[in-house]
Amino acid sequence: MKVVVCTKQTPSTTAVITVDNAGHVSWDDPGGKPNVVNPWDEYAIEEGILLKENHGATDVIALSVGDEENKEALKTALAMGCTDAILVSDAAFAGSDTLGTARVLAAAINKIGDVQVAVFGRQAIDGDTGQTIVQTARKLGWTPLTFVSAIKEIGDGRITVERLLDDGKETVTAPLPVVIGTVKEINEPRYPSFMGIRKASRANIPVWSAADLDVAGGAGAAASKVDWSHIYAMPAREGEVEIITADSVEEQARLLVDKLFEEKVI
Ligand SMILES: Cc1cc2nc3c(=O)[nH]c(=O)nc-3n(C[C@H](O)[C@H](O)[C@H](O)COP(=O)(O)OP(=O)(O)OC[C@H]3O[C@@H](n4cnc5c(N)ncnc54)[C@H](O)[C@@H]3O)c2cc1C
Repeated sequence: MKVVVCTKQTPSTTAVITVDNAGHVSWDDPGGKPNVVNPWDEYAIEEGILLKENHGATDVIALSVGDEENKEALKTALAMGCTDAILVSDAAFAGSDTLGTARVLAAAINKIGDVQVAVFGRQAIDGDTGQTIVQTARKLGWTPLTFVSAIKEIGDGRITVERLLDDGKETVTAPLPVVIGTVKEINEPRYPSFMGIRKASRANIPVWSAADLDVAGGAGAAASKVDWSHIYAMPAREGEVEIITADSVEEQARLLVDKLFEEKVI
């Protein structure tokens, strides 16, 4: 069984994002941390590796669409235990919206061939739409299983998973192949091992370009239906702090209650 894990590189969670007046977005990490594997995708990578360890998957292929820098995210996936990694990178894909990205991912998954499960994170911490998962499923014509908190069973061409809902869990079964969107309750991502890091640092990650893929419907800025036409930073919130002082806690509480009545909070 072949498994593909889709992962994207994002700014670190501590990076400070800046938007200038022209709407250009840039980011810098105060602690000098480099870009990272999208944190939600660490659960997807771990689940892909567990499919190898517990459910007999033979190949666990990390797949990313983006620029050359995304190889660092793929190396992390290899160091954790993925068997292969593929980067899809082409200037023609720059400025893709989620649908364009999904078309490219679907084309790459079709090119890999014989894939039974494509695992995704919950959402990307930068674009943050969570749309790529179901759009890729739609383009592949596969069943999307979102918010998956456990893979229970795979066999006889079917998969049974547990889905996390707002007010409970449900168990669903679907025929393979499927696209799975994961949640953090699904596992505890492992740290890359020392041996894994050494192996990943020497890995030669293949790069597929637009010419290698049959991307139906197009991708890139020209094909994007969603245009990031207006990006701006939220104005800083204004507020005041007043420290209530008194001789006793009881008096402080009384003054606080008076204030809250005055301000019509209670
Ligand atoms: C230069 C630039 C210009 C852009 N312009 C636009 C624009 O005009 N309009 C617009 O809508 N968006 C634009 N984007 C956003 C970009 O295309 C999105 O980040 C991308 O489509 C994925 O959407 P998302 O971040 O919301 O991912 P989500 O849908 O939140 O991601 C869900 C899951 O999908 C997988 N995934 C997502 N992206 C990838 C990927 N690239 N490779 C592999 N797996 C992936 C991961 O498993 C992830 O956890 C631009 C990005 C760049 C860098």
